[in-house]
Amino acid sequence: MTLDFASLGDWVEISKISNEIGVIESIYDRKNYLSRKAGKLRGGLKRGRRLEQIIASNIDKIYIVASIIFPDFNNRFIDRVIVAAESANIDFSIVINKIDLDENNYSKNWEQFYKSIGYNVFRVSAKSGESILDLKENLSGKVNLFWGQSGVGKSSILNSMFPHLEFRVGEVSNYSQKGIHTTVTGEFKKVAENTYIVDTPGIREIDPYGIKKEDLSHYFLEFNPFLQNCKFSTCNHDHEPDCAIIDAVEKGEISIERYQSYLNILNTIEDDMFY
Ligand code: GDP
Ligand code: ZN
Repeated sequence: MTLDFASLGDWVEISKISNEIGVIESIYDRKNYLSRKAGKLRGGLKRGRRLEQIIASNIDKIYIVASIIFPDFNNRFIDRVIVAAESANIDFSIVINKIDLDENNYSKNWEQFYKSIGYNVFRVSAKSGESILDLKENLSGKVNLFWGQSGVGKSSILNSMFPHLEFRVGEVSNYSQKGIHTTVTGEFKKVAENTYIVDTPGIREIDPYGIKKEDLSHYFLEFNPFLQNCKFSTCNHDHEPDCAIIDAVEKGEISIERYQSYLNILNTIEDDMFY
């Protein structure tokens, strides 16, 4: 991949033209980056080829935010972001918001569901403030990306943690001309010492980029113990005979929900992406 453009969260070196204007000379190596497939291109490139769009780089933690209701809890969305985070090797937690509206305690079931896989879950309410302090403590000292569908309450959660949040988009650090955070899209906010929030308004969906069909199952943590037992080493776990994953789903050792998420993502991976 070529790294021609600075992305949100990059450290770059600039040469200063005036007090307000600088030119990016180079981009420092990225610790990691989260990307997705950009929209389909018209003409020029081979039909159907999708390009990579970097959402943000140098992220310590992703908070995958969902609401339990209004909008409905969307585990397909969560699973897609998990795959993106796992494949980018970025730590993440799941945040289930609006538990003040959760009369039937569905959020506890989903919490248990993801915890049993091994993932960290916060159940919060931006409205009542429940567990918001736990979340605030958890993100301290890190560069954090909040990711979730529109309306789940990301802004509300951030506002309840940091009522006086100040934007620092495009601001230049005053200690040096090196190592300046730039933003291409989205916002990069300093909320406390060494603590940042990366906000990416307008980018809601994520179609993980650069994942090969045969690698996808590795990003479903609970599939891993079974993968060695498929008859074919190239097994995609969707129709092949003697598939240990399908077997585990049938025995209830892997949840049908997660398996369905796996199949959905598998179907979005284009065979001709790599050539
Ligand atoms: P965003 O699009 O993810 O940033 O979501 P917003 O923060 O804009 O919230 C969308 C709507 O949900 C607003 O009307 C909020 O008042 C509401 N909302 C956010 N968090 C909660 C919550 O914990 N409980 C309830 N009842 N409503 C919430
Ligand atoms: Zn298999």
